[in-house]
Amino acid sequence: MRKKKLVVANWKMNPATLPEARVLFARATRAGSRLENVQTVICPPFPYLGVFAHRGTTRVRLGAQDVFWQNSARVTGEVSPEQLADLGVSHVIVGHSERRALGESDEIVAKKAVAVLKEGMRPILCIGEKERDEDGRYFETLKNQIKGSLAGIRRSDFRELVIAYEPLWAIGKSARDACQPRDIRETEIFMRKTLTDLYDSETAQAPAILYGGSVEGENTAAILSEGGVGGLLVGHKSLDAEEFSAMLKEANTVA
Ligand code: PEP
Repeated sequence: MRKKKLVVANWKMNPATLPEARVLFARATRAGSRLENVQTVICPPFPYLGVFAHRGTTRVRLGAQDVFWQNSARVTGEVSPEQLADLGVSHVIVGHSERRALGESDEIVAKKAVAVLKEGMRPILCIGEKERDEDGRYFETLKNQIKGSLAGIRRSDFRELVIAYEPLWAIGKSARDACQPRDIRETEIFMRKTLTDLYDSETAQAPAILYGGSVEGENTAAILSEGGVGGLLVGHKSLDAEEFSAMLKEANTVA
């Protein structure tokens, strides 16, 4: 059976108002619901999650952008895994580079991923290098992130794990600045090899691997087909309902 592509919309702190969020959610849901080869996940900011609670369908799911790593803790301002699960959230982004830039370590990311899995949701665990040096030292960075951020995740949970490769230098730009499909392919192979070394070959094949970083309409098909990844994490273009719908349609055609 053909494996569905996973396309995740990361709205970050957008849009500014609830009426705009409702329109965006409705348009993305309409587009995603028509596609049988794509699983769409929409990750709105926390204030809108309750509004869209349980609105997910089998083809279009509700996701969160972050989470705390414990359920009942006295921590002002945080959101617990069980609260997200109760709202019908199925996927949770953990360790996005913008959160890592605020001080989130591999250890914290690992705790979040484990907590998300415990509540029956799927973590979308982000890794990525700041820059690509000619000597290939970024491979070491990726390896260390994989080792540290996956610590404590049971092998039996790897099927539920999603790893998003998001090179920081490619985020928030335009399609021509994105990582090239052949480099994405090479990185995907490196990530699977690293997982094989750390675990075993069967476990290494289990997680879906996504790419994120300036994916737009024009590079969607090439990244999915030549890049060899199982899906996309989309930032700024997920806020453009028309282009995001077109990207979902493209993804639906890639075998
Ligand atoms: C992101 O920040 O997760 C991302 C992929 O952003 P963009 O698509 O805007 O590069």
